[in-house]
Amino acid sequence: MKILIIYAPFCAPTMMPYSLASMKHFVETHSDASVTCLDLNAYFHTLQFPEFYKRLKKEDYASVLEDFDKTSRAVYAENNKKIVHGEEAAFVPELMERILQEKADLVAFSFVYNSQCFYGHVLVDALLKRGIPCVLGGPAVTDKLHALAPVFSEKGLLDYLVTKGVVLKEIKNYVAVPDFSPFPKENYLSKERIISLKSSSTCFYKQCTFCTHFARVPYAEYSLEHIREALVKNKAKYVYFIDDMISKNRLLEIGKLMEEFSVQWWCQLRPTEDLLDCLELLSQQGLRSVCWGVESGNQRILDLMKKGTSVEGAKKVLAESKRVGIINMLYMLFAFPTETKEEFLASIDFLEKNKKNIDLVSTSVFGLQRGAKVYDDPQAYGILAVSERERTLLPGVISYTVEKGLDNEEARILLKNHVKQIKRLEKLPHVFNYFKEQTLLWKSS
Ligand code: SF4
Repeated sequence: MKILIIYAPFCAPTMMPYSLASMKHFVETHSDASVTCLDLNAYFHTLQFPEFYKRLKKEDYASVLEDFDKTSRAVYAENNKKIVHGEEAAFVPELMERILQEKADLVAFSFVYNSQCFYGHVLVDALLKRGIPCVLGGPAVTDKLHALAPVFSEKGLLDYLVTKGVVLKEIKNYVAVPDFSPFPKENYLSKERIISLKSSSTCFYKQCTFCTHFARVPYAEYSLEHIREALVKNKAKYVYFIDDMISKNRLLEIGKLMEEFSVQWWCQLRPTEDLLDCLELLSQQGLRSVCWGVESGNQRILDLMKKGTSVEGAKKVLAESKRVGIINMLYMLFAFPTETKEEFLASIDFLEKNKKNIDLVSTSVFGLQRGAKVYDDPQAYGILAVSERERTLLPGVISYTVEKGLDNEEARILLKNHVKQIKRLEKLPHVFNYFKEQTLLWKSS
């Protein structure tokens, strides 16, 4: 059986999709099925935005990415709108033709971002109408997509394939090694090839009350052998770890391996003080850039978020990280339920006071999402009424009222009033907040 795995538009076309690379390896290792991958997101971008690929070779890449970001957002919005209104979106015939060329028996779609559901919907629908079976997977499969085709996890997909005549292989110690070979480097809007890797099954902490990122599976660390094999197989020079978080012991093990292969790497961490004594070593081992989950500059809010960090600890970690040459990117989350204006401003004050140790700030305003601890127990966080507005293809938007503190709208206005101030303290071009992996290639002049 020939299986084609697809990554639909739209998301940033700067890195090869990990989900496809790992699924290809998983299915081919466990069965006699053959697997081809098509990153239609990157393909779409080569068709729609060829000028940016040319410019990237000659011009300053931060300004190319800035222009690309502005231009592409408008194109995404226009095409998504067309799909919602039943009109034909750009390059759908070309994408379909590319799929049909593969003559696959089964087409599997991987949905990582909600923004992929528009084109995903159109493509799945068109394939089913042609009698080509489709299956779906990934964290961003919406109910509306699910209504079109069955949804499977990795293991579930194998069980399904057996019912279609695929023969499984007996594998004792599976080592997950993503295979990025199917993806042409020239389809990616990046000066260098950056590969994404995963070193564990989920976040080991899983406590943050706003969080919906981590997978609800037991925490398991993938063997170092898998990372080693992935580095060798993919000739990696730059690695973006997509783990939600990595523990200290694990960081130290990974650091040794990265040093052995002279790899520069990126990861996201909580700013906990236990890291203070190892950041220098990790920097020497190629840790180039970290996205720190700082979230707030107010201790009551951090405690309510169950972040397990302190304002003072975060300060020290950022200072040490900067001292040893790591690029510090910060996640800041405003308007956590009950946050007052003063507490909001404490976060702004934190950024100001620590600006010499901050390179980039990625801001967001709290939104209530299914799966978060706050959603499960809204009263405990002063949330009064929860309602949901349906959308055509995207999941519904949840809104709520609060007993005290800033509401969402007030927080958005406050944040808007401070955007310039926050941007002024950034040392790297602001656009890197949307292409975080590109900080790996940043060289200050
Ligand atoms: S925010 Fe990060 S550290 Fe906290 S639970 Fe989520 S993934 Fe884990």
